[in-house]
Order: sequence, then C-alpha cells, then structure tokens
Amino acid sequence: MIIVSSCLLGVHAKYDGTVTNKNDLLMKYSHLGQYLPFCPEQLGGLTTPRPPVETINGTAINSMGEDVTSQFKKGAEQSLYLTEIFPIKAAILKERSPSCGVHKIYDGSFSHVVREGQGVTAAILIAKGIPVYSEEDLTEELLCKLLCQGD
Ligand code: SF4
Repeated sequence: MIIVSSCLLGVHAKYDGTVTNKNDLLMKYSHLGQYLPFCPEQLGGLTTPRPPVETINGTAINSMGEDVTSQFKKGAEQSLYLTEIFPIKAAILKERSPSCGVHKIYDGSFSHVVREGQGVTAAILIAKGIPVYSEEDLTEELLCKLLCQGD
C-alpha cells in the first residue's frame, strides 16, 4: 500500500479547492486499490478552501499572516499514525507543498520563489524511514515497481 497526497488523486483537498493537482499516471493505476489517500492539512483541521501557506524557519504562516504551525504539526502526526496502522511501503507526495513537498518548497515570501526543502509531513515520513517520492519523481516504471511490492 502507498500513501498518496489526496490532491494528486483528484480529491478536493488543494488549498484553493481545485483539482488541478490530479495526476494521470497515478490515476491510471488507482483501480488496483493500493493507494491510501490523505491530506495532512485537512487532517490537521484546516478547511478547504483555505488561504495558501508557506513555511519559514519551522513556522507555517498563511497569506493572511496567521500562524498555522500547530495544524501543520497535527496533520503530520496524524499522517504518521496512518503509516503505523496500514502496511505502507512508500509515499507519493505533492512537490512544493508546505506539507507534502519532497525536494522543494516555497520560501515563505509568497512571491512564487522555490527553495530546496521538505514540507512538514514529508520531513516526518522521511525521518521515519519511509521511501518518499514526489509526483515529479514518478515514472511508470517506478510506480509499477512500488505497486509490485504489494500487500
Ligand atoms: S497538504 Fe498535501 S495532500 Fe493536502 S492539498 Fe496540500 S499537497 Fe495536497
């Protein structure tokens, strides 16, 4: 089983309520029933839609200037819990998200500047030793390999 950012599967989880993150390659194999969709920001108690958030120095701030760090931490802890109660072999997460970004996130300036770094939930899953990929890492070969690990 693979835990997957739910917005990549077309769930209305993205901050602006759209489904523009839907990923065709992931959808191609959804019928196999090996995905566990999750959205750490929703699990942390944030609404959809919601103001966009960026992180800086460990603090998550939305575009209204509100500190949502506690919701981000709760969402990460709940996500980690899901990996403990389900047989999760890997995670596929949305790149550049302040929660799910695997290699890159926005720099906290709300000016579309990207820097190297991990989202709050991605970091906790990586620290737990779970193999974590972004949708931008995915090839059909890699996805099939992950799915073949089965469970
Ligand atoms: S927190 Fe992750 S799953 Fe939720 S909308 Fe953002 S990128 Fe998608």
